Amino acid sequence: MRVNSVQVTGTYFTVDDFSQTDTIDIFPIFEIIYWAVIVQIYFGQNPDIFGEGWKKAIIPVKIAAKAIADATRKASGNICLNRLWNITLVSERAEQDIPSLINLAIGERYAKLRHPGHENCTPEQCDFTSLDATRVTQLHQCPETDADCRMTKLHFDPTLLKVSIESGGGTVWSIDAPFQVLRDQKYIAISHVWADGTGIGLEPAGKVNACLFEYFAGMARALRCQGIWWDTISIPTDPKLRGKAINEMHNNYSNAQFTVLHDSYLANLEWADDGTPCLAVILSPWFTRGWTALECIMSRKIKVIFKKPGTTTYEPLLKDLDEEVLAQDPSCCSRGHWIASTIIRRLRQPNQATGDIEAAENKDIIQNVSDLLAVLQPRSTSWSRDRMIIAGLLAGVEVQYSESAAAITKKICQKLKYINPVSLVHDKTPLSESGPWSWCPKFLYDMPASPPSDFHGRYHQGLIRNGAIKLPAYTWYRRVTKQDVLQRRIIPFSTHPSVSFKIEAALEEEWHNCLVLELTPMVALLVATIEDNLPVASAAAQLESQSGQTLLCRYIGSVRVFEDKTFHERLTLGRTKMSNFIIGSSNEFPEFAVRNNLQRLTHLPQSQRIIQNVLKWDEQVWIGDRIDGELFVPKRIKEKLSFGHFLEVAMHEVEIKYDSTNDEITPALATTPCFAISGKGLIEKVSKAWSLETPLYSLVGVGLRWPPPSIPSAERVERRGKTLQQKTIEFPTNSFMLEFSNDTFTYSAIKKENIEPSDTHPYQGIWACISPTGAYELHLFQQPEPAEIIATKITRTWDGPPAGSPVFRAEDIENQLLLYSNNKIDCDISLKVDVDDSPKWTSRYFHFLDRNTINMVPDSDFDDEDGKEQVLWKYRRVPSAVFFPPENTRCRTPPPRHFLHSRYQ
Ligand SMILES: [Zn+2]
Ligand SMILES: [Zn+2]
Repeated sequence: MRVNSVQVTGTYFTVDDFSQTDTIDIFPIFEIIYWAVIVQIYFGQNPDIFGEGWKKAIIPVKIAAKAIADATRKASGNICLNRLWNITLVSERAEQDIPSLINLAIGERYAKLRHPGHENCTPEQCDFTSLDATRVTQLHQCPETDADCRMTKLHFDPTLLKVSIESGGGTVWSIDAPFQVLRDQKYIAISHVWADGTGIGLEPAGKVNACLFEYFAGMARALRCQGIWWDTISIPTDPKLRGKAINEMHNNYSNAQFTVLHDSYLANLEWADDGTPCLAVILSPWFTRGWTALECIMSRKIKVIFKKPGTTTYEPLLKDLDEEVLAQDPSCCSRGHWIASTIIRRLRQPNQATGDIEAAENKDIIQNVSDLLAVLQPRSTSWSRDRMIIAGLLAGVEVQYSESAAAITKKICQKLKYINPVSLVHDKTPLSESGPWSWCPKFLYDMPASPPSDFHGRYHQGLIRNGAIKLPAYTWYRRVTKQDVLQRRIIPFSTHPSVSFKIEAALEEEWHNCLVLELTPMVALLVATIEDNLPVASAAAQLESQSGQTLLCRYIGSVRVFEDKTFHERLTLGRTKMSNFIIGSSNEFPEFAVRNNLQRLTHLPQSQRIIQNVLKWDEQVWIGDRIDGELFVPKRIKEKLSFGHFLEVAMHEVEIKYDSTNDEITPALATTPCFAISGKGLIEKVSKAWSLETPLYSLVGVGLRWPPPSIPSAERVERRGKTLQQKTIEFPTNSFMLEFSNDTFTYSAIKKENIEPSDTHPYQGIWACISPTGAYELHLFQQPEPAEIIATKITRTWDGPPAGSPVFRAEDIENQLLLYSNNKIDCDISLKVDVDDSPKWTSRYFHFLDRNTINMVPDSDFDDEDGKEQVLWKYRRVPSAVFFPPENTRCRTPPPRHFLHSRYQ
């Protein structure tokens, strides 16, 4: 089951005063349910209703809004808003996780999480992000009075480093003087933030403060290591060696016994067992830096430096990140602690999250582009090029500083092979206009990351091959309709002119090839099929999705779609379907049956339609080919007809009330019209009682049927699939079509002259056929000959043949007509009745009471024992005044001056 939204109202009555209502905040209740679900999942019981994980779409925005606003307000001025919101880029429920995180620390503990100097940071921008951390004075870990330390520096000779590298050795230093570059000894690696002054700063190469080195060396001793790898002294300054060393960077962490995490923000936070240290880690500067992500992923064991409780400065306390800082069991910790832990754990074990078997072989390398993005998205570096280098290293791709961002992005995608659909929904210009890489932005980071719950193993990931993408099987999609375009329901997500232009051009020029892929709850992906589809006005219903088939598409761009129906409704209506997709190129996935199954349509090309809305609507009624039939009487809405303005017409049905006591009918038009055709030739208003769906309206051209409806003919065939020559002038008829997602109905006009009785045709017209129960159908009487009546069903109320079927044919009524003033004269007619689907003709008799009143009786001896007439059906004429309301004739429709052809042909 798919839960997309929950309708909730949060009011209740107070016990003592029923007139007062109070509003309760039910977000905490959802939080408890969420919590219960998380605990259940942890213990291996995944509740079915959350089959796809708990995503933020489960809770309506309005319910979470207040809690999120409150939490953000609480954070403001204390916690950097940029860091806080960056967390939502990668957390499970995005911004809905903010309240839990912020409420994790209370009182004094909360004050300790303060980010001094970040008071003016906005959710989008942190003032410290772009700070050049390489020019910060080196940190001292000694009292300020220690003048000796302030004067002397330790020296780690860069030439020793150079010699070691050139001879294939490492870059680990011994912790005791004389300082040597070690080989094969156990060492710790330092993961730190340069902004703290733990980098080289303004010092000459190899010079570091003695107290600072001793601070780290002491930790190495405590962890039983002889060496230290610290980029401040371990990365050579020589540009060539430096490039080599940077590409080896991750190995220095994966080979270390321990990685010691130093961040002044954390080192100054007193350790506590309440989960706040974990929250502090994700709010720390360390967590915002790009390089530290690489270090975090590559490290085997991470020891985080916190402040020992109850001590003054310089008293570090090392805590194991995985075992002590992160929560181990959701049932024994706070929500915020678990949420923070999940975010860090994903960084620690990127492959475990995917449950992938390949992960075991290639343990240290991320294998999904979206996963890489989740790691790197909230981070920044002093140099934007570094971000690409880091991404390359994490992906296991060797990259050079000289390479372009586009080249690195391609390399990474190619290497990682997998991508989550959500990452395709970006708003940037792609690397390539068409074909391979046409879905991929130049800068890897411009693709959105996906929340942890988006990981369900390989089945839910897209596969990248030579710049083409095969989306995960069964992607939800629907076709774009002409209505979408005319009503501007599909809006480019990007504000960049080149991207929005491409989307708008595709919608205008080839809407019939466009598909909306529902990859995220908020933003969809617009693609177009490679093969040309028939431009059918609506056609969602005609999508024949067969398993195993794959639609080959071009990437157009990300769009917002304004749907008039919920996902569930669209599913019910058959508007949303599932299929397999390949975007980018056909040749990359030859093993898949690639074909364009949208062409399997049952409809005619648009070129045979008349897309104009000048319906000659007065003095006519319309009958429909729905199985129960329909009779529409138009009523003009707009009184004034101005130049260039088309008529607006509402279509009403006829309602008949039958009073059996007086044997009288009261026919009238239903007050509420079924639908209205707007001046733009669109159906914009629909009565819910008539249809829950808004059909597409179009006139039927003569090309559709032969002979054209204007020529009387016993038979008419529909010309399906036959293409008329483009230049053929198509005369509009007065037939129109209503296209629903699952069905199309045609409505044809009956002219006034065929409805109003005349001296020669006294019985022609529309009659209400009233059954003994009082129910009625509408039948059309035609008189091809004065002595003949042919009745056809217009609407169907009881079982039997559908609307449009003949009811009876009465021949030789002439004699009776002459005698119709005599009440007791009947006529012999043949009546076609369906019994058990076997049609047979039986005789019925007409009893003409007057020109507007006929009774149908079983036999000529129509009186029963009481002398009362036994009536089968009563026919009562519906006066033609009902069909032709006087207001319609006030201003006649001008004849159409020209035919408007669709520009969407
Ligand atoms: Zn900030
Ligand atoms: Zn010092």
